Amino acid sequence: MSARTRFHFQPFFARLAQTPLAPWGDALADAARIRLGPGAHGDLARWEAALSDLPMLPDGEVMLDQSCVGIRSSQPLDPETERQLRDALMRLHPWRKGPYCLQGVRIETEWRSDWKWDRLASAIAPLDGRRVLDVGCGNGYHGWRMLGANAELVLGIDPTLLFVAQFLALDRYLARDALAVLPLGIEDLPGGLTGFDTVFSMGVLYHRRSPMDHLGELCRLLRPGGELVLETLVLEGDGERALVPPGRYASMRNVWFIPSVAALSVWLGRCGFNAIRVIDVSRTTGEEQRSTDWMRFESLPDHLDPNDPHRTVEGLPAPCRAILLAERR
Ligand code: SAH
Repeated sequence: MSARTRFHFQPFFARLAQTPLAPWGDALADAARIRLGPGAHGDLARWEAALSDLPMLPDGEVMLDQSCVGIRSSQPLDPETERQLRDALMRLHPWRKGPYCLQGVRIETEWRSDWKWDRLASAIAPLDGRRVLDVGCGNGYHGWRMLGANAELVLGIDPTLLFVAQFLALDRYLARDALAVLPLGIEDLPGGLTGFDTVFSMGVLYHRRSPMDHLGELCRLLRPGGELVLETLVLEGDGERALVPPGRYASMRNVWFIPSVAALSVWLGRCGFNAIRVIDVSRTTGEEQRSTDWMRFESLPDHLDPNDPHRTVEGLPAPCRAILLAERR
């Protein structure tokens, strides 16, 4: 098995050791090892087998600065290699974040994650030379885009091991030492870790039972003056309000707080941020989030009221998301 398809992240840690984040390298590596330890996940061996069955691909041009992240070459893949590639990738189903293109094989993911990137890319502080943390990064789609925008180092963390396996499948071909997706939740990060120039938290806040604690943790991870990019579900309309769904929200069991933009801005101010700006508010559509061949489970259209697309199946306001920027004081 190639070194890059195992759950090992040495090239990234070697890169991290050359930055001011070096003091936390060992603690991060230990935390990742604990997450991958005995009993980590019943499917881990199956995913490792899928990774080791990824075929060699001919050299191609790496594409990190366009919507379909991947590699391109002038020659089409031979049919047998293409079949092996599709089969191995499909064993990592469901693919939620993307899209990715590997030499003609397009992984059409549940989400058009490139749309989210397009909403924020020109509004955030330029990433050139910045050290970035992406909390709840999924399989790392936006991390590749950050490298495409010349970030110096991107640490993605996500506790869902399947998404880490998907990252490793891409990393097998894109092989960039400056990016890793480590199998960690924010609660697994070593105490005292700080110094990131930009911290992303996208699609995570509403999954946290304690949103203020989450914002405070994000603040401490930044250097003073560093930028937070926060994306979350919001309630449309004026005033400081927050919805706590009494049960499921759009069929999701783990949604806790959906604040209005005004309420979220106050929360950020209370948690150590200033220069708070709203750069986007968008309703999520069935074009942006839907089932595909690569994500065959139910998706957003199945979780909305068939008679009223402005309501979820539970009768709550349909998903609307905002992106806010803020600086650590
Ligand atoms: N940031 C990506 C993915 C959002 S989906 C995007 O915006 O497209 C939310 C992700 O948060 C999931 O991949 C989930 O595994 C992850 N997550 C859940 N609990 C978390 C925690 N405690 N710490 C960090 N990430 C978490």
